[in-house]
Amino acid sequence: MNNRRNFIKTAAVASVAVALNSFSSKPEEEIIAPRKGRKPIVLSTWRFGIEANAAAWEVLKKNGSALDAVEAGVKIPEGDPKERSVGYGGRPDRDGRVTLDSCIMDEQANIGSVACLEYIKHPISVARAVMEKTPHVMLVGDGALQFALSQGFKKENLLTEESEKEWKEWLKDSKYKPIANIENHDTIGMIALDASGNLSGACTTSGMAFKMHGRVGDSPIIGAGLYVDNEIGAATATGHGEEVIRISGCHLVVELMRQGKSPQKACEEAVARIIKLTKNRNKELKDIQVGFIALNKQGEYGSYCIQGGFNYAVNDETGNRLIDAEYFLK
Ligand code: ASP
Repeated sequence: MNNRRNFIKTAAVASVAVALNSFSSKPEEEIIAPRKGRKPIVLSTWRFGIEANAAAWEVLKKNGSALDAVEAGVKIPEGDPKERSVGYGGRPDRDGRVTLDSCIMDEQANIGSVACLEYIKHPISVARAVMEKTPHVMLVGDGALQFALSQGFKKENLLTEESEKEWKEWLKDSKYKPIANIENHDTIGMIALDASGNLSGACTTSGMAFKMHGRVGDSPIIGAGLYVDNEIGAATATGHGEEVIRISGCHLVVELMRQGKSPQKACEEAVARIIKLTKNRNKELKDIQVGFIALNKQGEYGSYCIQGGFNYAVNDETGNRLIDAEYFLK
């Protein structure tokens, strides 16, 4: 993804005074300025969330469902070969194979997921087909591909010339070290609240660039990379999937909102959990990036990440803007 570090701040961000390092016990109102709730509303990770939100908004503004909105939204970066961390044009694994991970969840807790899926440009739509047309919730690898083909999805080469060139360059030293916020991994996670007050979410990625073949991150795992509870709220994640899975990240964020935390505070506490475990495991925090975004049933939202550099897009009736997430490591 280009210009990740050139943040395009298109809107003022609500000022959020976060009690860093302490994740303190102060009452929430003292720490966080509440963000006004609205519906419909859609949120998604990273700069490509702007275009994705715009597509989702087309559905939401016509009173369409959050489910249709999130599928339509994430298909934008999935289909764009210039976006090198999602769908077509995504960076391959270390064997040169583009393997995609996606999941989707609706307001009735219907879920569908595919992992390590090759040759299909829109894994999110295959995940939706798993949800709607099979008795299962997750298909992987060749089984996912065979299912997609049986549903009429087209088999295509997803490895673009650019991604192949980069992979060949990488092969020269073959050092696999996922680095936070450089241009080698990102995911689009999208969560939406529609005009009827229903929540849904979608998450899709090509995962860590040059990963081991068969590696699956958090993104297609319901509860890790995405979770929706229509009574409470929804959350999605980006960053080092191994760390998100370790804490069942997005399920945790939603459960924290169930306990009464604001979306902002819930994201902060989930990040705090990762930080604590990282320290306990004597791992370096500076090598890890995880970002969460969350939305509650009232249309209030928040986000938090470990390191600066993560941004997310929010679209409601006031417009579509990119916001720099608050972060822990100053
Ligand atoms: N979470 C994704 C994964 O671990 C990658 C990312 O969002 O950067 O596969």
